[in-house]
Amino acid sequence: MPLPKAELHLHIEGTLEPELAFELAGRNGVPLPYAGTDALREAYRFTDLQSFLNLYYELMAVLRTEQDFADLADAYLARAAAQGVRHAEIFFDPQAHLARGVGMDTVVEGLWRALGRSEEKHGVSTRLIMCFLRDETAESAMRTLRAAQPYLGRITGVGLDSAETGHPPAKFREVYEAATALGLRRVAHAGEEGPPEYITEALDVLGVERVDHGLRCTEDPELVERLVRDRVPLTLCPLSNVRLRTVDALADHPLPAMLDAGLMCTVNSDDPAYFGGYAGDNFDAVRDTLGLSEERLRDLARNSFHAAFLDDDEERRARCLAEVEAYTFG
Ligand SMILES: [Zn+2]
Repeated sequence: MPLPKAELHLHIEGTLEPELAFELAGRNGVPLPYAGTDALREAYRFTDLQSFLNLYYELMAVLRTEQDFADLADAYLARAAAQGVRHAEIFFDPQAHLARGVGMDTVVEGLWRALGRSEEKHGVSTRLIMCFLRDETAESAMRTLRAAQPYLGRITGVGLDSAETGHPPAKFREVYEAATALGLRRVAHAGEEGPPEYITEALDVLGVERVDHGLRCTEDPELVERLVRDRVPLTLCPLSNVRLRTVDALADHPLPAMLDAGLMCTVNSDDPAYFGGYAGDNFDAVRDTLGLSEERLRDLARNSFHAAFLDDDEERRARCLAEVEAYTFG
């Protein structure tokens, strides 16, 4: 039995496995320029951010209907559950779908078909977090927030993703103010490829409650001190960092040093179909390569539930935390 954990950094579009991509392409009559699943899996072996993003957006074309989004989310939840995930906070990128004529209702209601029965079917509670593409304009993000307003019963928070460099958090100040006024929780990618100043800005200007990645905080000792003092959760994604060359090799990953510094780290999968593994695979990789002790792994699992947006279901959080405490490593 795998260690119980919450996954807090997961892009649902990044869970599209080659088999499902072909199934949806066939169902929707969308041609894919690959001979088959093996050829597509080969294309998943990209080595830089741009070739990843090209493929990521190309394959999104197979997602057309509510059922497609439901199938995508259900496949993720089944895999996540098998790897010990008991709670998942799932990112989605509405702008990428709106831009190709797929409406907000299709995306949200489709995802909800799977999320709404996930606890019963997979034993995984869920939250949905709508991300803005930071390389698009702030106006586009604001329009997206307005388009999502009828669906706020399904959406817990907002996030910020896509290419970080040159797109500082402050660009989205008004959007985050509007999201706050709507009662939404706030996270943002910061300090993955962008500088530590982006992390500070995300905290000060956007009021984020968690930092996605946050890896480069280690370059600024005062920032580390602040993140430790305020117990700001960081959603690290070790296998993603290796695949996108944020770190040279997993053995060089700063996770052990970050834990030693007292940072509230969590381990997540980011875009698991593309980056070589789901949440449990990331845990196994850091255990095997970085030599994390069982108590360190238990700390990571504990942190994930403390950092989860479960304030409206403290009973669930307590139950999951009790499972972490009771877990015996095999
Ligand atoms: Zn991400």
